[in-house]
Amino acid sequence: MRNLIKIALEGAFTNFKRIFFAADRVTDMDMKKQIATLSVEVDDRVDESACIGCSGCANVCPTNAIVMKPLAHPVKLTEGWVKDQVPEIILEKCVVCYYCHDFCPIFSLYGQKGAIHPSCVGDQEVDVSEFLEQPFKISDDKLKIIAQYLSDKTVLKNKEDGD
Ligand code: SF4
Ligand code: SF4
Repeated sequence: MRNLIKIALEGAFTNFKRIFFAADRVTDMDMKKQIATLSVEVDDRVDESACIGCSGCANVCPTNAIVMKPLAHPVKLTEGWVKDQVPEIILEKCVVCYYCHDFCPIFSLYGQKGAIHPSCVGDQEVDVSEFLEQPFKISDDKLKIIAQYLSDKTVLKNKEDGD
C-alpha cells in the first residue's frame, strides 16, 4: 500500500511539472488544459488503430493496470511487424501517472499523441505502418529506457545515428 501511495504521489508530482512547466514531455496543450481544469473527457483510452501492439505500456505501468488483449485478427503493419494484441486499462488500478502515454513509441519515437492514455486519446488518424518505416532520432539514454520495456526491439530498427 505504501508503494502505491508513493507511485500515486510521484505521478501527481510529475503531472504537476508536466502541466505547469512543460517538463520533459509534450502532452498536447488541449490535454494539459483539460488536466489543469479537471475537465478531462473520459472517452476512448486506447486508439487501437494507432497502436502497434508492442506491450511497452503494459510493461512500464507501475501498478499493472494494463492488460494486453489478443486480437482475433492480427494485422501485418510492416515487414517483420505483426500487431496481434492491444492494451486495455483497468481503471481501478490506474494512478494516472501517464507513464503509459509517455512511453508509447508513437509518442516517444514519432512525436504523435501516444496511442494510450488514462483519460482519452481521441481519434488520431495516424498511419502507423508509415511511421514504422520512418527513421527517428532519440538520445541513447532515452533509447535505453524505452528498449528495456519492449519485448520485441524491431520497432527500434530505424533509429538514426548521430543523436
Ligand atoms: S496512467 Fe498508465 S501507466 Fe500510469 S497507472 Fe494508469 S495505466 Fe498505468
Ligand atoms: S505502448 Fe503504445 S503502441 Fe505499444 S502497446 Fe501500448 S499503446 Fe500500443
